[in-house]
Amino acid sequence: MAFIDNVLQQPAYGWIDQAGNLVIPTKKQLFTEAFSRINVLATRKNWISAISWLMAACMVPFLLVFTFKYFSLPLLGLLVLYSMVIMSTQGTIWFHRYSTHRSYTFSHPVWRFITQNLVLRTFPEEIYVVSHHVHHAKSDQPGDPYNAQAGLLYCMLSDVNHQSIAKDLSEADYTKAAGFLRHTGVWINSYKDYQKWGSIASPVYTVGLWILNWSFWYTAFFLIGGHGLACALFSGAFFWLVLVRAFNYTGHGKGQQKHVDGVDFDRRNLSLNQIRPGLFSGEWHNNHHLYPSSARAGFLRYQLDLAWLYILGLYKLGAIASYRDNKKEFLQKYLREPMGQTNDKSADSGRIRKATARFHQLFSDSQTVPEAAKNNHPKKSMSIQERSCWDPLRETLPESGAFTEPYAHLTNPDLSCQQFNRLLHQYKQAVFEVYHRQLTDDGGATNSV
Ligand SMILES: [Zn+2]
Ligand SMILES: [Zn+2]
Repeated sequence: MAFIDNVLQQPAYGWIDQAGNLVIPTKKQLFTEAFSRINVLATRKNWISAISWLMAACMVPFLLVFTFKYFSLPLLGLLVLYSMVIMSTQGTIWFHRYSTHRSYTFSHPVWRFITQNLVLRTFPEEIYVVSHHVHHAKSDQPGDPYNAQAGLLYCMLSDVNHQSIAKDLSEADYTKAAGFLRHTGVWINSYKDYQKWGSIASPVYTVGLWILNWSFWYTAFFLIGGHGLACALFSGAFFWLVLVRAFNYTGHGKGQQKHVDGVDFDRRNLSLNQIRPGLFSGEWHNNHHLYPSSARAGFLRYQLDLAWLYILGLYKLGAIASYRDNKKEFLQKYLREPMGQTNDKSADSGRIRKATARFHQLFSDSQTVPEAAKNNHPKKSMSIQERSCWDPLRETLPESGAFTEPYAHLTNPDLSCQQFNRLLHQYKQAVFEVYHRQLTDDGGATNSV
């Protein structure tokens, strides 16, 4: 088996069944797995999973004190700001773009340490990083640690159920897994220590940094605004820690195909560019799946990317030595695509516009999912998944012999939803190309193709 199939600890219910389908565990199975994963009495190798829940539990007293002793609307406002913008943008900057995707480098480790500790510490890096590589390798397939098609709870509990590394890796595989974290500054266990502790990160480092980080921030918040502010912001961190898990579910369309033409250009998976995570933390997730190692994910004009502004700001100050930015490639490649809004000012832009218009006539269903969700929809009796899967085709019939074969593939009832969506995308592209070619051949003189 390949390294990427092996690196995470498989849950008791497994990733995939005999027939090759995703296993969708019951609530009971999910909770049983979660409690077995944090049980440090069963094996101390569970410590790394237990600690992220312990950290969340340690934040609860701050939430209680804030609620019953210091509650005020201005503090609540700061709590929300800290949780939804500051914590989540730092998550993008540190866990996502640096620790996992290495989209930029620091000029000195001190900047790395500051970026790592810019906010209250929550979970250990390895829980996020290793599993996130698996997420990109297997997006929306069995084995994806937060496969949205298996439901909200599957994603909410994924940090303990699906995100820790396997406890029986060979030395070669362990070295590879540890390699995912070598640039982060996390103290890494030797293979011998891994066999004892079951983790990449050293427990001394993990616990030591946690205590230092919380002590520093509590003192800083206290000096700025007393116990009230400190308790409010610790509560904000708690909400982030809990709610960030829901992002993995909604960021992949809650397991359904909800792509919007002109917004979500990557159709190989269910990821979406959503407004709130995008504007608040730079998580333009569909763009990110197209260019995972780009330090910028906000590519379109309205796509504010606060994480990118931090990276660019530090680069200008000299604290970040280098970064990758794929905005140019994105614009070149996708804004000339059939489903995109072209901004091409060259000679053939008129033809592209005409072909796009014709294409939209044929596929007048660009926003199929919201339409399908309406009660008066003709296919109301179908399940939501079936509707989101089949609606794009609707009553569309191939007009030209050239389309017959892909169309026949598409109408094969044995296709899975995902295969269907992939084929549909290819089909739309092929149709568009034929129209575009026809328009080019006749000099754009006709609208009747
Ligand atoms: Zn994703
Ligand atoms: Zn990623």
